[in-house]
Amino acid sequence: MKIATVRSVCECQAKLGADVDEQCNALKGWAWDTRRRVYSAPATAKKVTDQRFDVGWMCPLCTRNVLRSFDVSALGYREERAAV
Ligand SMILES: [Zn+2]
Repeated sequence: MKIATVRSVCECQAKLGADVDEQCNALKGWAWDTRRRVYSAPATAKKVTDQRFDVGWMCPLCTRNVLRSFDVSALGYREERAAV
């Protein structure tokens, strides 16, 4: 399975990250606060066109719904063994 990580920043300055598969489905999401503590952040991803997909996070620090668009061609996939 190939996985790519996308990153963004929430309006509250939390850093957001999510792993997506080749179909641009979100596998997991997380957030760091400014002290670099890690939180789980529910993430969803949706392919909008062949070129673009959107990732939405529920920020665990400020409860905002954060929506960011990413270019599919900008994703750097890495090979990862599927969890059994
Ligand atoms: Zn936030």
